[in-house]
Amino acid sequence: MGAPASFPPAELALAVEHACAAGVPDADSLIARIRMYDPDVDADRIRRAYGLAAAAHHGQSRQSGTPYIAHPVAVAEILTELHLDADTIITALLHDTVEDTVLTSEQVRAEFGDDVAMLVEGVTKLAQVSRNRGSSDQAENLQKFVLAICEDVRVLLVKLADRLHNMRTLAHKPKPESRVRVSRETLEIYAPLARRIGVQRLCSELEDLAFQWVNPSAYETITRRLDDERATRREAVFQVSDRVAAALHDAGVSARVFGREKRAYSIWRKLERRGIEFDDLADIYGFRVIVETVDDCYRALGVAHRVWRCVPERFKDFISTPKPNNYRSIHTTVVGPDKRRVELQIRTEDMDRIAEAGVAAHWRYKQDSYGYDPDAAQRAGGDPLRRLRPLVEILEHGGDPDEFLENAKLEMFTDQVYAFTPDDDLIALPSGATSLDFAYAVHSEIGDRCLGAKINGRSRPLRTRLRNGDVVEIICGADPAPHPGWESITVTGRARSAIRRLIRRAHRHELVTLGRLIAHSAFHRHGLNLAEARLNDALTRLKLDSEEALFFAMGDDKISGRDLVDAVYPGRARSDVDDTLDRELIPPDAAQAFVRNRSSLETGGAPMTGPTLTPGISLHLATCCSPLPGDRIVAIPGADGARVHTIDCDALAALEDTQDDWIDLIWSREATDKAVSIGRITATVEHVKGALAQIALAVSESHGNITGLRILERSSEFFEMALDVEVFDVRHLSNIVAALRACPVVVSAERAHGGEEDEE
Ligand code: MN
Repeated sequence: MGAPASFPPAELALAVEHACAAGVPDADSLIARIRMYDPDVDADRIRRAYGLAAAAHHGQSRQSGTPYIAHPVAVAEILTELHLDADTIITALLHDTVEDTVLTSEQVRAEFGDDVAMLVEGVTKLAQVSRNRGSSDQAENLQKFVLAICEDVRVLLVKLADRLHNMRTLAHKPKPESRVRVSRETLEIYAPLARRIGVQRLCSELEDLAFQWVNPSAYETITRRLDDERATRREAVFQVSDRVAAALHDAGVSARVFGREKRAYSIWRKLERRGIEFDDLADIYGFRVIVETVDDCYRALGVAHRVWRCVPERFKDFISTPKPNNYRSIHTTVVGPDKRRVELQIRTEDMDRIAEAGVAAHWRYKQDSYGYDPDAAQRAGGDPLRRLRPLVEILEHGGDPDEFLENAKLEMFTDQVYAFTPDDDLIALPSGATSLDFAYAVHSEIGDRCLGAKINGRSRPLRTRLRNGDVVEIICGADPAPHPGWESITVTGRARSAIRRLIRRAHRHELVTLGRLIAHSAFHRHGLNLAEARLNDALTRLKLDSEEALFFAMGDDKISGRDLVDAVYPGRARSDVDDTLDRELIPPDAAQAFVRNRSSLETGGAPMTGPTLTPGISLHLATCCSPLPGDRIVAIPGADGARVHTIDCDALAALEDTQDDWIDLIWSREATDKAVSIGRITATVEHVKGALAQIALAVSESHGNITGLRILERSSEFFEMALDVEVFDVRHLSNIVAALRACPVVVSAERAHGGEEDEE
């Protein structure tokens, strides 16, 4: 076949020549890369795709000034590193053509077939959504995204490679605020999606690139520390590798051992979560031990533990219990040569490839052709796309896009906890998940009907946070029962969205009942009978499609009793009947039910709300835990109103027997959006000159504002202090805590929990 009809051969040749003259790698170099893993690749087809892309983008350039074709070629190269098939590489070359050039989807189909056309369309659709930036378009974007991916994961792989190259060249974007916006989107959506399908290699580069724009000061602090460490520890790293390899060799295990520096962003996340000491080698370097068989993994582990003492809390066996994205490896930290803590990751060559490439590791030769091998994926531990399914489920049940985004982010951000059903099925949940989350993860119907839970055989409140290895048995009632307060004790998007759906349904049911009562009352007072009325014509007139919709609209105060009488019997509504009475005439208990439900759904601007909260009760924030927006909270009623604690506050332990009186609360949207709260941090700091200045700088660089500072204890070497800082929410606070931990003078820093008496 020759060149496609849309471009004359001379134009094609010129475009290709122009690209190569500007330093863009040519088609042959791309083909050579593919041949490394697929020797039979149809080189001509790749060459044609290259030519077509070059011609279509001819005359366009990137913000850096290079010809546009450099971008699709770079995206294609990234995908060759993941050993993807020819159709994916061709899609990468063409991914921006249908969106930005004269080329049409039909031309792509005629030239490269249905698969490529479908893939290009998938990527194009995503690009179109992300380009129109409305208020909730990030949310819509993600929705489309997840749906497209579930049709063919290659769409996601191309999109991730596309994003990676755009991140690598982000410095060329002229506006700093758009660099930050793109980076934030990368951290919140693209990197977590990459992790979900196990493509660690893309994920960690995306995170590191985004991190430097989103939090430049933290990035700089950490990379500076890493540079210092690298200079002083080079020798140590080689020594450790050699010693580990020698010990394994002596025991007859053949292994490849090498040290890998951890990524700045992953170090930052650890600083955020727990106070690691920066000078621990194990926190900066991980040592890979690659062996031949699964058996060898355990033998290598045995050798390591025999030669060096292990640090028990850091031992993890992801071979017997793989992560849901199929990651398998043994992690152990030992007190290694020269008493240095050393982290070892022991795995086979195969596991290593899956750890790096995830779902992409399963493209290989099978029966003469190169493609995705679902059997291999299955053997490696199952379909990684399974992890996207909860998101799809949220999509299918509707709800607004922003809600979806909030849920999806929540699900993807957090780390995992693994719990089991009584039948030994593994349920992976984000850490912090409760037994109620567990119930919803098993099945939404189980969640809806959930009454209680037994954890490891003992009855426990539904709000109990699960720990790794818990066996959870859910006790169900016969019927679904909506509990608006449940939302505050769940963390998974899946549970939250199901609970909201259940409440909406119950709410709708009550409004329909109320509407029906209003209709009866209105007809009655006009001397008419609703039972005899023919509602069909009226429905058409009111543009409604069912009686249920009619009564719902009436219950919701959208249509009055008079409107309905007017619609059924035009001209008969009597002007002397006051229809505001309709609402007052309905039976009092129906009205109460209505009002009760209302108050649980609307926040009315209060910072926090709860379904069983008595209106007018005064709420005080407990000073032992100082809850912040984003914390899970509960109110304990007392003599002078109720005191609001975080759900994990130590003070609650003493109050467990009053649990039935606890009031479940959630923060209102206003609280999380606008208000500024005070968070308290305690820190131990080296007693050196300029220490306070460093701390103040770290806080202000994290956009915090110190409102109070007290020295709690002072010695010649250290002082301990309490800082009150204005923050937006709990995430903001943990960000500041992490920034403090990154300061060289800070020995430890953490959010204050208890310790001080409630002063009120
Ligand atoms: Mn692109």
